[in-house]
Amino acid sequence: MTLARVEEFVVPLELVDKTLEPLQKAGQRGYEAFVLWGGRFTGDATRFEFVSAYFPEQRTSRGEEGLLITVDGEALFRVNRAFYQRGLTLAGQIHSHPTDAYHSDTDDTYPLMTLIGGLSGVVPDFGDGGRARVDEWAWYRLVARMGWMTVGDETRIIFR
Ligand SMILES: [Zn+2]
Repeated sequence: MTLARVEEFVVPLELVDKTLEPLQKAGQRGYEAFVLWGGRFTGDATRFEFVSAYFPEQRTSRGEEGLLITVDGEALFRVNRAFYQRGLTLAGQIHSHPTDAYHSDTDDTYPLMTLIGGLSGVVPDFGDGGRARVDEWAWYRLVARMGWMTVGDETRIIFR
């Protein structure tokens, strides 16, 4: 089954809370942060449910275009292994911004989630306001030959 065919992504709200915790903590120090989501197909090939959030070892540095987060290959390998051992696929990445939520050029160029059809969410204001503001997250999807595209009607993201 391929992520490219998924029409509906299910996101449990407790996963949102687990994700916001490290994002808010990093934000208090003025840093952006990344959390990776693992999940599995449920029922058929058009429905995918995220079940696990993983906060990988990461470093933040200040570059010309703002903050750059680096997760080295070894740390990324550990994430993938942890998901794989539970039968999960790394299909989502979530990261925070100090203010507006959008995919920057840096975000387009250095994703951690690299599967076609996977999701990338950007959280505004370092996650201030918690899950109540989850509808303000900006969502993008990695599309074959097109790169990162804003999520539209073809994709439903269901929080529950
Ligand atoms: Zn970004």
